[in-house]
Amino acid sequence: MEIKTVVVGSIHTNCYIVSEENSKEAIIIDPGDEAEKIIAAAEGLKVKAVVLTHGHWDHVTAAPIVAKHFNAPLCIHKNDEAMMTYSNQIKADRLLKAGDKFDIGHLSFVILHSPGHSAGCICLYDGKKTLFSGDTLFRGTWGRTDLPTSSETDMEKSLKKLLSLPADVVVYPGHGKKTTIGEEKNLI
Ligand SMILES: [Zn+2]
Ligand SMILES: [Zn+2]
Repeated sequence: MEIKTVVVGSIHTNCYIVSEENSKEAIIIDPGDEAEKIIAAAEGLKVKAVVLTHGHWDHVTAAPIVAKHFNAPLCIHKNDEAMMTYSNQIKADRLLKAGDKFDIGHLSFVILHSPGHSAGCICLYDGKKTLFSGDTLFRGTWGRTDLPTSSETDMEKSLKKLLSLPADVVVYPGHGKKTTIGEEKNLI
């Protein structure tokens, strides 16, 4: 697995380009801004999907341009579609739910629903050692729960679920540096 991090936009969102070496298949997670920079970094890859961890502007703004460039479907959890459409006039091609999968080469990422920061937050987990956590779990902290469709109760449940993953899982958050489940074990 190759993971390229492209930091984009005014609040430094991590856009991840995740690819599988043999097939060159890839997914792009959270193209929040600076479409040209993301497109340049993903050139030559077979982008199978643009996956949004949630519907906030700092994660979705460049998604239509990037999805169109690679002719890839724009995917978001069903609970965040309305927010994205309303605030950014972006339409999804595919609505996600827990358990949905994205295959790139021999890798398979499963969608974990992790509401709390917003009702449609998701994480992507490869079933082994890699988790993309969006704005749910950050290094040493977690996402805001004072926004529309946020829920502190849901956040607590979602964090508990994520922190029950194996300690050696590397966590790639929506902002800031990566961490591991082991390092965050005592977060809540
Ligand atoms: Zn957010
Ligand atoms: Zn964010």
